[in-house]
Amino acid sequence: MKAVKIIGRILLILVKLSAVLSLAIILYFLIPPLYNRYIIYPELEHERALLWKKYKKPQQSTKHTDYKGVLHSHTYRSHDSRGILSEIIPAAKKAKLNFIFLVDHRLSDLDTFPRGIHGTFNDIVIESGTESPGPSMMVTPLRNVVLDWKSDRNQLIHNVVKNGGMVFYLHSEDSHDWANPDYQGMEIYNIHSDLIDEKSPLKFLINGMLNSGVNRHWSYRELFDEQTKIIVLWDSLNNHRKIVGMAAVDAHNNQSLRARYLKNGKVEWVGPNAKTLSITEPGWKEKLLFGKPDIAGWTFKMELDTYFHSFNFANTHIFGDTLSSRALKNELVKGHAYISFESLAEANGFQFVSSDSSGKINAVMGDLIQSKNVFRLKATSPFPVKFELYQNGKIIDSKEDSYDYEFQTKNKKGNYRIVARLKFRKEWLPWVYTNPIYVY
Ligand SMILES: [Zn+2]
Repeated sequence: MKAVKIIGRILLILVKLSAVLSLAIILYFLIPPLYNRYIIYPELEHERALLWKKYKKPQQSTKHTDYKGVLHSHTYRSHDSRGILSEIIPAAKKAKLNFIFLVDHRLSDLDTFPRGIHGTFNDIVIESGTESPGPSMMVTPLRNVVLDWKSDRNQLIHNVVKNGGMVFYLHSEDSHDWANPDYQGMEIYNIHSDLIDEKSPLKFLINGMLNSGVNRHWSYRELFDEQTKIIVLWDSLNNHRKIVGMAAVDAHNNQSLRARYLKNGKVEWVGPNAKTLSITEPGWKEKLLFGKPDIAGWTFKMELDTYFHSFNFANTHIFGDTLSSRALKNELVKGHAYISFESLAEANGFQFVSSDSSGKINAVMGDLIQSKNVFRLKATSPFPVKFELYQNGKIIDSKEDSYDYEFQTKNKKGNYRIVARLKFRKEWLPWVYTNPIYVY
């Protein structure tokens, strides 16, 4: 009898212990998201509203228009996305994009261009390219051609570039042939590259689930880290030749749980990476969860990476005079571009130029210019920022809380670029990275 009592007591203690442990685990995962929801995100939201009121249109120093868009996005033509135009265009409109450069994964070794979606849709220029197999590249030939992915890679890059196309290296955390003489640029930021360095993806996921809706732009930003290693690499490559920096959204709209009716009346459940989880007859689950179908037919959606939130996260601005894919490409490969994190604030109007001693503007970001002609570097921002000036990758000057910035180069050579930071919760967050002005 005594033994039974002891076992009973031990069991009771174990039950209590496991209850306490479960509660601790639940609290461990729930407290941070709830703290974010009720304390941190409202604070950030308030600060952002105050910041947006400080908008001042910068005086335009060149005649070029600032076109905002996204590079490296996917559609249903990739194996890991279901995104269709009727979802992409409204999201792009809401994010105020002028252009999208798509790179869907290849369908076969022989790749026919133009492929997929390209043209102007609701005033948004869409150009299609391929995200290459192997070391990942954005290949956008901008002409009628068939590329063979089994052919020699260096030759392929050379031919695409020689014939007026564009090749940028993607996923800069991976190994690439950085010494290749033909590619024109690289990602200096990619949402996916940033996501894979998260120490606790589960925490990010739970926070995202509990902070969707109005807080999603903040919960999505939890993945953000400065891509220091990649920026260092970019700077070092620019010591040899111009390598243009771009931002990638790598949008797939595929980290979700979704369901919809198929034509045969069955229900398809789709999980992460756009993979079909099951195709079943509709039952009680569907009756309980399903609402009205959206534009793509989804009757149930729980999603993290909507097109809008990706399109409003990491943008590339290109200066130009014509909104067409060829004109944008021509300006981008010159480096007439900067990247920005738009959910913090819209960067349109940001400028970085050089002038001679009489004040005449003689170069913009991306340009090469002789040192004897450069007297001053100037940057302007639509919001008060902390300007940081980098020369060959080293910070040499900064200025806080200002719309304007000036620096006398005293004819000193180097690659000069600006990082502009916005202040949130006492921290200067990176907001704009310009391409360098190359003073030689
Ligand atoms: Zn991709």
